Amino acid sequence: MEFWPKGMPRTIDYPVIPVGEIIKGSAHRFGNKTAIIYKEKEFSYQSLYEEALKFANALKDNGFKKGDVIAIHMPNCPQYAIAYYGILLSGATFSPANPLLPPKDLAYQLNDCGAKAVVTWEQTAPNIKKVLLDTKLELAIVTGDTELTNEGIMDVSDEDGNWVSFNKFKEQGEAKELTIDINPKEDLAHIAYTGGTTGPSKGVLISHYNVVVNVIQFNSWRSGHLPNATENGLMMEVPDSVNIDEYPSKMGKDRLINLTPWFHAMGTVGYMNNPFLSGSTLILHQRFDPGLYLQDAEKYKVTGMGGAPPIYVALVRHPDFHKRDLSSITTISSGAAPLPVELIHLLKNRFPGVIVNEGYGLTEVTMGASSNPSFKSGVRKDGSVGIPVFDTEVKICPLDGSFEALPPREEGEICVKGPQVMRGYYNKPEETAAVLKDGWLRTGDIGYMDEDGFIFIVDRKKDMLIYKGYNVYPRELEELLFKHPSVANAAVVGKPDMEVGEIPKAYVVVKSGEQITEQQLMDHVNEQVIPYKKIRELEFVDEIPVSAAGKVLKRVLRDREKSRSKA
Ligand code: AMP
Repeated sequence: MEFWPKGMPRTIDYPVIPVGEIIKGSAHRFGNKTAIIYKEKEFSYQSLYEEALKFANALKDNGFKKGDVIAIHMPNCPQYAIAYYGILLSGATFSPANPLLPPKDLAYQLNDCGAKAVVTWEQTAPNIKKVLLDTKLELAIVTGDTELTNEGIMDVSDEDGNWVSFNKFKEQGEAKELTIDINPKEDLAHIAYTGGTTGPSKGVLISHYNVVVNVIQFNSWRSGHLPNATENGLMMEVPDSVNIDEYPSKMGKDRLINLTPWFHAMGTVGYMNNPFLSGSTLILHQRFDPGLYLQDAEKYKVTGMGGAPPIYVALVRHPDFHKRDLSSITTISSGAAPLPVELIHLLKNRFPGVIVNEGYGLTEVTMGASSNPSFKSGVRKDGSVGIPVFDTEVKICPLDGSFEALPPREEGEICVKGPQVMRGYYNKPEETAAVLKDGWLRTGDIGYMDEDGFIFIVDRKKDMLIYKGYNVYPRELEELLFKHPSVANAAVVGKPDMEVGEIPKAYVVVKSGEQITEQQLMDHVNEQVIPYKKIRELEFVDEIPVSAAGKVLKRVLRDREKSRSKA
């Protein structure tokens, strides 16, 4: 039994190339092979690249240039991938926006990154309309299912600003390669938003090199291949030292159902760039319907399942889970939130011999920092997020902020160093300095390492909970509660829940003499936030526990919820 990817070197020689080389290489190597299946329509690698080149040329011809920020505000769809690679091939910077962001948060994000154009979806375009005049947006490009063929042009009215249909815009450009002088280590590929360790949304600066490195780190880890930058784009090749039979993931042969949103780091890197570099076929589902997922898994003979833990909870409980023929599956990957060990056992029982693999990361490391080994004879420890991937160092540091490494099994803050670590937060030098020093990133996650270097996450230093794989920052919800005139004190914590991970639960002290119901207070908050942040439980209490220094003792509340859920 071994820890390190079998036959692979300790360190990789990463090519210093722009992200566009990924799709260029795959178009060359996989050509007519299907890259995306969406609502029964198929898109080949070659067509994806050509459409992306048209989009890139259309951006250039319309005056957008290197360094301009272009936001994508839509659910996963073929146009997302075209726009993503188009933006990067043109030298512009991609900034993802969750399509469900309420208008105020959307305007904040678009203004913070200075987006000059946005690509949006017919159902989410109304929110762009609401905020357009409060932003620096010069152009809104809108698309929808009706535009899945080139003949389909959406009827877009131009009354409030500069709106154009995606296909109409794209067809202005030619499918020819551009010569843009991109410096991969300096130039930004992504400005991705996260609350980080503090809560308020911050733009994470990710260079082209960061993306290429992190994609290769995880691709090589899982496939046993190494990168080769050629004039036809980035290729992955098997070194002589690797016995490829040890790796269940097969170049050009994998099929995955994709649910992980591409606006999230795990989506952009792990479920778009990474499978595209491998020549996989992605079956896109915009919404999670466990029955449909299982049906398509059988129909398309999917080879891998991937996503956040709530997906697996729903799948294992579905009546078709044991009925469908899922014998094509060779790997199951999880990330974004802890994968309960009980769930790992359920999955292993259903899929004997299949590798169930958990990884760990955060937006600030482009996507990922650690993973359990995924070659067949590799050691995987249930409940652990694995070992640091290629060229990544992880150490556990004291919670007081110093960077000295603690011995095995001692709990502390997980700190990460590696070529995938962000360049910093956009326009936020103080917040950057608070988490990044000498290349070491303080993650705000608390954990320990065992003697073999496997990382176990036990808690979070940052005040955050994870609902269905999405980060929720209690402070935002508490501030909204405090704005209500009946509220004297409030604290929000994550209540453990097998199905969704953690539920945002509020404890509230009501001002004496005030008449208000739990539901009224929940409605007051929930009307103002994106759906995944909604308070789903609210309890009135006489007091909120505080420390001698007056700090709310969230751990006491969390422990209370944990012991109640066990009872
Ligand atoms: P994000 O920046 O949205 O990707 O969120 C990153 C945070 O998600 C991390 O700092 C962790 O708190 C959490 N996280 C990611 N992967 C895992 C995992 N496998 N187990 C537990 N928490 C995780």
